[in-house]
Amino acid sequence: MARTVQIFDTTLRDGEQAPRCSMNLQEKVEVAKQLERLGVDVMEAGFPAASPGDLAAVKAVAAVVKNCVVAALCRATKGDIDAGWEAVKGAARPRIHTFIATSPVHMEYKLKMAPDEVVRRAAEAVAYAKTFCPDVEFSAEDASRSDPDFLCRVFGAVIEAGATVVNLPDTVGYALPDEFGKLVAYVKANTPGMEKAMFSVHCHDDLGLAVANTMAAAAAGADQLECTINGLGERAGNASLEEIVMGIATRKAYLGMECRVDTTQIYATSRLVSKVTGVKVQPNKAVVGENAFAHEAGIHQHGILANRMTYEIMTPESVGFLSNRMVLGKHSGKHAFEERLKSLGFDPADLDVEDLFARFKVLADKKKTVSDRDIEALVVGSSKTVPDTWKLDRWVVNSGSSLSSTCTIRLANKSGESREEVAVGDGPIDAAFTAVNKIIRKDLELDSWEMGAVTEGEDAQGEATVKISYDGIQWNGRGLSTDVIEASILAYIAAINSMEWELSAVSPSARKRAGNVEGV
Ligand SMILES: [Zn+2]
Repeated sequence: MARTVQIFDTTLRDGEQAPRCSMNLQEKVEVAKQLERLGVDVMEAGFPAASPGDLAAVKAVAAVVKNCVVAALCRATKGDIDAGWEAVKGAARPRIHTFIATSPVHMEYKLKMAPDEVVRRAAEAVAYAKTFCPDVEFSAEDASRSDPDFLCRVFGAVIEAGATVVNLPDTVGYALPDEFGKLVAYVKANTPGMEKAMFSVHCHDDLGLAVANTMAAAAAGADQLECTINGLGERAGNASLEEIVMGIATRKAYLGMECRVDTTQIYATSRLVSKVTGVKVQPNKAVVGENAFAHEAGIHQHGILANRMTYEIMTPESVGFLSNRMVLGKHSGKHAFEERLKSLGFDPADLDVEDLFARFKVLADKKKTVSDRDIEALVVGSSKTVPDTWKLDRWVVNSGSSLSSTCTIRLANKSGESREEVAVGDGPIDAAFTAVNKIIRKDLELDSWEMGAVTEGEDAQGEATVKISYDGIQWNGRGLSTDVIEASILAYIAAINSMEWELSAVSPSARKRAGNVEGV
C-alpha cells in the first residue's frame, strides 16, 4: 500500500516574497483557483501581517478556495496571529502557520532570546493560534542548522500546545540529502507526542538540492512536502512542486508513496504562474521547461519512434504539456475552436469565447498555422483580471540607424475618449513607452522588458513581458502580437491597467511591506 503524502504549495507566500515575483490581488486569486484545480492539499496564501494588501489578498483567496486548506503565515506574536486569523477565518479549511527561529545563530543575533524563551514563545504562539483555529502549523525557522535535540524539545512543546503540523525547514538551503533525511528520521522518532501531528519539510535551493532534500525527507517519513510552482521563492527558490510531484508519480513503486495532485494540470499552472509573475521558466527546467520533452538528438528520435519508453520516463501528456503541432487554420469554425479550448483544459464557460474566436481569426489570417501553443497564449493573455483603463487605438513608429526613433501613439480611455502623443526615444520601444507615459501623465519606471516567441518559425507570435514600477510598487504586463513593437506596447498598457486598477481600488501603499518580510 502506497502512503499518501500531502503537497503544501507556498507559491503565493514564499514564491511571491521573492524579488520581482510580486502579484496583485486578482492575480493571486487566479493562481489560487488554478492551484485548487491542480489538487494541492494546502496552499499558503500569504503573510497577512506584512501589509494591508497581503491581508486583503489572503482573505480573497480564503473566500474562493473550497477544496484545499488555506494557510496564513505569522510570526510567533499575537499581532501577527490576529492578522493571520482575520485573513483565513472565512476559508472552508483555515490553517494558521506560525514560526520562530531555533538555530543558535538566529536565536542569538536575530531574536536575542535564550533557547528556553524560544520554546516558551513557540508554545504560547501555538496555544494562542489554537484559540481561533483547530489546524495550526508550527515551523522552526533555520531548523537544518539547529540542534536536533532542541528541535525535538520545541516540537514536543508545540504539539503539547496543540500544533497539528510541525515543519522542519532548510531555510537557508544548507542541508545535504543524506544528512537531511537522517535529521528528519531522528527528530520524528524523538519528538514527544509526534503521533499527534504531521511532519512537514520546506527546502530552499541555495545549493540546488531543494528537491533532493525534500525527496530524502519524504523517504525518511515526512508527511507533508512544502514547495512552489516553478521553484519560485526567496533567493535561489524553493523545492519545485512539479519536480517533487513527478518524482513521486514516476517512481511511485520504488518510493511506496503517492500524492493527490492532478499531474495533467502541472503545465497550465506553471504557465499561469510564469505569466502573472513575469518570470520565465528556463528552457532546460525539469518537467515544465520548453525542452523537457524535446528529443532532438537523432539517436533519441530513432529510439522514441520505435518505442517511447526508450528515452521517455514520463509522457508530455501526463503533465499537460502542449504539443506544437498545427491544430487549426483560418477555415476552422467556432465549434472546432471551442472543442480545442476544451481539450487544452480550458472551460469555455469561464472565457469570452466570442472575443477569443475573433482574435484567433485575426491570427489565423496572419499565420499559416495556429498551434496549441498559440491558442493557449491567446487564452492566457486574454484572462482579464482587471478592467481596461487604457486601450491601444493605433500607433506608428519611425526607426532607423541614423536618427532617433519617434513614435506616435493613440490610446482610448474608459469613457472612449482618445489621447494622442508623439515622443522621441532611444529605439522604437523607448519612444513608444515614452509616448504612453505622456498620455497617461505618469512617469513610470521600466524595470524590465523581455521578448520571446510563442512558437518557432518566421510568422511566430511575439510575447512581450514588462515590469513597471511607480511609487516603489511593481506591476507586470504581458502582450501578444505577430508584431514585436505592438506586443511590447500591449504589455506596457497591460501593466499600466493593472496599476491603475490597484491604485483606484485600494490604498496605493497597501502593497508596501513594512521592512524586510520574514519567512521560513
Ligand atoms: Zn521558505
